[in-house]
Amino acid sequence: MTADAQAELGRIDPELRALVDRESTRRARSLQLVAGETIALPAVREILASPLGDTYAEGYPGARFHGGCEVVDEIEDLAVSRAAELFGAEYVNVQPLSGSVAASAVYAAFAQPGDPVLSLRLDHGGHQTHGSRANFSGRWFAPIRYSVGADDELVDYDQIRELALLHRPRLLVVGSPAYSRLFDYPLLRQIADEAECILWVDAAHLAGLVAGGVAPSPVPYADVVTLVTHKVLRGPRSGVVLGAGRHGATLRKAVFPFTQGAAPMDVVAAKAATFAHAATPGFAEHVHTVVDTARALAAALTDRGLRIVSGGTDTHLAVVDVSPLGLSGVQAQRRLQGAGIVVDKTVLPFDTRPVAEGSAIRIGTPILALSGGGPETAVTVAEWMVTALTDTAQHTRIRAEIAEMLGG
Ligand SMILES: *Cc1c(COP(=O)(O)O)cnc(C)c1O
Repeated sequence: MTADAQAELGRIDPELRALVDRESTRRARSLQLVAGETIALPAVREILASPLGDTYAEGYPGARFHGGCEVVDEIEDLAVSRAAELFGAEYVNVQPLSGSVAASAVYAAFAQPGDPVLSLRLDHGGHQTHGSRANFSGRWFAPIRYSVGADDELVDYDQIRELALLHRPRLLVVGSPAYSRLFDYPLLRQIADEAECILWVDAAHLAGLVAGGVAPSPVPYADVVTLVTHKVLRGPRSGVVLGAGRHGATLRKAVFPFTQGAAPMDVVAAKAATFAHAATPGFAEHVHTVVDTARALAAALTDRGLRIVSGGTDTHLAVVDVSPLGLSGVQAQRRLQGAGIVVDKTVLPFDTRPVAEGSAIRIGTPILALSGGGPETAVTVAEWMVTALTDTAQHTRIRAEIAEMLGG
């Protein structure tokens, strides 16, 4: 915030001003290991503070419902062409308000209420928009679930093929906020072709890794790919739909006007900057550091008696079984928080504890890597974590050491 903006906020709403300051301080002083978070690019924050958000731009470039859209038309075209180049996509829509809204557009484009949808079990790493009963996707469509193997905790492609041929779903959904391994897109394409269904890859978490060259791209294989720009990509809080050219006209109508109204043009502009940045060698280097750090941290935690689901990670995140320490996921999350380490509680595949408790935590390294923590800091971070989990008397010391590492 500029000094003027800060002063005005303090004047018109001191209560909120204090809360904003508190949240900024909390983030600056603690170690953020929430896998879906990163630190937005300064350029993105600058664009979001610009007057671009004041421009109403319902419709698409060249076909708006409002006057004064000539500049934002160019901005949206720029965002689209940059995403098309970055991901090698034939069709791009940069308007979805979030990952979940992008998901709604995929259902709108390809399925009718009641249609079967094949997706990963929620408690094995599926996302709520992939058929949870608490979400429209599970209420209005008929979810069929595949799982990970009980022994290796890896996605079972034989089971996916079997279920796809048996149930003939409209959509085969792949992508997860918790699965730390890569997917076999050529094989999934083959299964989708055999079962004659649409292959939708939800790359919310993986898009940054794809852009940075550390994970394979689903784009050549999928009918449609959704992603968000606020996870590893360091962009604004928002969604994107990428599609095969043959689905372009359908996806366009499914986003606007079926699912949402006008897209915020400040956010669209921030996405253009995000894609430009994601195409640079510097971003590729960052993403490599993120994944190397996650691997090193998973190994260091394993060395200290914890178990990593599926035996390790190929990505920026890992699910850590904390039951060897006699803790539930929620207890582990609280203890770590006491020491200034922020993680998410989660469940193991085939967890014996209720979902509200879980036996695991999920960690991610995008912010650690931006705070000067490369793979060489993994041992220190793992030591902090295991000590914080086992000895609450050490919390004050660890909190101070973390604040020091983060620069005060
Ligand atoms: C984060 C995430 C989303 C949802 O993104 P929102 O912008 O919060 O709606 C969708 N799918 C997956 C797999 C995710 O991890």
